[in-house]
Amino acid sequence: MRWVAAIAMVLAFALVAPSPALAAPPPYYPPVEYVPASRANYDVGRTAAITTIVIHETDGTWLSATNWFQNRNSRVSAHYLVRAWDGGIMQFVAEGDTAYHARAANPWSIGIEHEYDPRHAIPHTIAQYRSSALLVCAIARRYGIPTDRAHIVGHNELRGTDHSDPGPTWNWNYYMSLVNACSWQRAQPVARAALRTVANHGYVPSAGLEFDDISDEVLLLQWDLAYLGFVDRDEVAGGGSHFGPLTEEALAKFQQSMVLPPTGSYDELTASALVQALLAAPADVPVTDLEMEAESDDVARLQTVLQELGYMDRVTGYYGEMTSDAVTTFQQDSGIYATGTYEVITRMALAARMRATVAREPVVEELEMTRVGFIAFGVLPY
Ligand SMILES: [Zn+2]
Repeated sequence: MRWVAAIAMVLAFALVAPSPALAAPPPYYPPVEYVPASRANYDVGRTAAITTIVIHETDGTWLSATNWFQNRNSRVSAHYLVRAWDGGIMQFVAEGDTAYHARAANPWSIGIEHEYDPRHAIPHTIAQYRSSALLVCAIARRYGIPTDRAHIVGHNELRGTDHSDPGPTWNWNYYMSLVNACSWQRAQPVARAALRTVANHGYVPSAGLEFDDISDEVLLLQWDLAYLGFVDRDEVAGGGSHFGPLTEEALAKFQQSMVLPPTGSYDELTASALVQALLAAPADVPVTDLEMEAESDDVARLQTVLQELGYMDRVTGYYGEMTSDAVTTFQQDSGIYATGTYEVITRMALAARMRATVAREPVVEELEMTRVGFIAFGVLPY
């Protein structure tokens, strides 16, 4: 009888033995269904820190991908797969283990497959994008991964890859706007009041932002530049708040237009030039911060703008649920931490959106004027 007891003990141990994938994920993770891959299709543990999330497309149904990951001869797997029709998330490999999805990048990345199968008329869906974005937010928060396009990459963007997924139907702009809307890195709403801006010109961040900074001040700068036409609005909406090459390039273009040395860095002179440029081209949106239960002409003005952009259909002058919902949706579409309140970053994003939508004279002409004024003020050192 003793061996029976021994087997029973082994079985009991097997049933309660901790497995990394079965350990409860942090509470901020979306619901995940665990469907283990074949043990032959991943390595236990990691040989490098997790720094990158790789986005894949299955080019087949979720069922065929599942079979593939469970087939011990396939030698492929991914940590997660997000179904198209319902956005359901399946996990095949624990994050602490090394899945076989991106060759040389396997040790430092987490792979997320997205069901996509044009031959069977399975497109990417809103449910899938949303669900995947929640998962990416949670992973990014867990490992401190910046939620930008340098750290959330397509399989096709990895160095030396011969894979082309995700293909052109994968909407990076939309996806990154969702990721940014739930990003843990966003300063919380309370911190908004603490935005470091130019004195008396709250719509321009203080000088001193540096390359690779990630902050609300950077996001404000990017929306300022988008409003003035120096960076594409969709680029900011799709991955703002990181001071990367695009921001540097936009700053250099702006500096050039103001006859400043095109350094691409954000110094005192550039900050004051930005104030001048924005003063010369005032936005047709409310200047004051607005929040729930406010009642004013400014609220009515905000509602009119949101109405023109299709976010709400009534102008009441009262900031209630309807307005808050409209602002929230606009913020999500713009990659802004969604609070439902109207503050300076939302203001500049809204202004940039209005400029892109409503036909009006090109900003460049206004800038010509500004430059003349700027030089006339004698602000320039030469
Ligand atoms: Zn792939």
